[in-house]
Amino acid sequence: MVEDADTTCTRCGGKGHIPHFAHVMNGVCFRCWGSGEDPRSASQLRRWLTKARQEYRARLQALQDAPPEAATRSIKMDLALIARLGKRNKARLEQLERRPPFEMDESRPSS
Ligand SMILES: [Zn+2]
Repeated sequence: MVEDADTTCTRCGGKGHIPHFAHVMNGVCFRCWGSGEDPRSASQLRRWLTKARQEYRARLQALQDAPPEAATRSIKMDLALIARLGKRNKARLEQLERRPPFEMDESRPSS
């Protein structure tokens, strides 16, 4: 099995979690959601986005229980981070899916 160094998550270094953020979701890395690999392929990005949506919704739900202020702050920081990463990964996925499998002609029919 060949290990491609390029796919190692740049945020957690492939560990899948970040000890510094152990107080948030047990420190699971948002960038790779614990897989240790940077989402690169369309299927990886789709999996990432599904997970991100679940986690985002779970946090919105948690806010409705009116947690203590410190918890509220950290949940809101999570939401902002997930939204930011989500926007970027969604754009990457759209770019991957927009690319046609065969480029036969340079001229594009604009209808
Ligand atoms: Zn990671």
